Amino acid sequence: MKTIGVLGGMSAESTAVYYRELNRLVRERLGGLHSAELLIRSLDFAVIAALQAADRWDETGAILAEAARRLEAAGADIIVLATNTMHLNADAIRAAVSVPFLHIGDATAGALKARGVTRPLLLGTRFTMEKAFYKNRLIAAGLAPLVPGPADRDRLQAIIYDELCQGVVRAESKAAALAMIVRGRADGADGVIFGCTEVGLLLSPDDVDLPVVDTTFVHCEAAVDFALA
Ligand code: GLU
Repeated sequence: MKTIGVLGGMSAESTAVYYRELNRLVRERLGGLHSAELLIRSLDFAVIAALQAADRWDETGAILAEAARRLEAAGADIIVLATNTMHLNADAIRAAVSVPFLHIGDATAGALKARGVTRPLLLGTRFTMEKAFYKNRLIAAGLAPLVPGPADRDRLQAIIYDELCQGVVRAESKAAALAMIVRGRADGADGVIFGCTEVGLLLSPDDVDLPVVDTTFVHCEAAVDFALA
């Protein structure tokens, strides 16, 4: 089995889900006492979030590139960045290592297409929903992503940073996110992307009457496919 290097802490709440899911998937596939070979580098998210808010993406890229380099030096055979937003720095990370970098957008696009989705509603941070880096990856894969309107994007940003990344799950926030999905469906969405690794802490695919791709889970599945290939 190959060693998966997880670049996490963004936030720690969702990196904990990666840890659980990577181990669960390996046990499911190999049985018995098997678990994943993992290295986790978990960063202090306050530092990263402050740089995001200040639009200092070159600095986040330098931090993530260095962390990825250390994961490779420690023995990682692949780098898995456990956040959608920070894939804005995918090129900087890829340039820093010689092992493969497993892009979360590619795993997501593949899962959407397998479910027959063409116009997915993208639920994520403001950066993921508004900047081009993530949507373009989906468009290049032949998808036509939609995002919520401005007020919904503000609300979702606050739910992610002020609540979910801090371990807080509120019923009213869940209702607000489900209302965003209703509006997205009315706008023509035929599926939903849980496009932030914390969204699965708030919503379950069972809450949604459309096909759902939870980026955390499909990213973990792709990592385990690689590790066991
Ligand atoms: N984990 C989140 C994501 O998947 C948001 C936190 C971050 O900015 O990294 O986008």
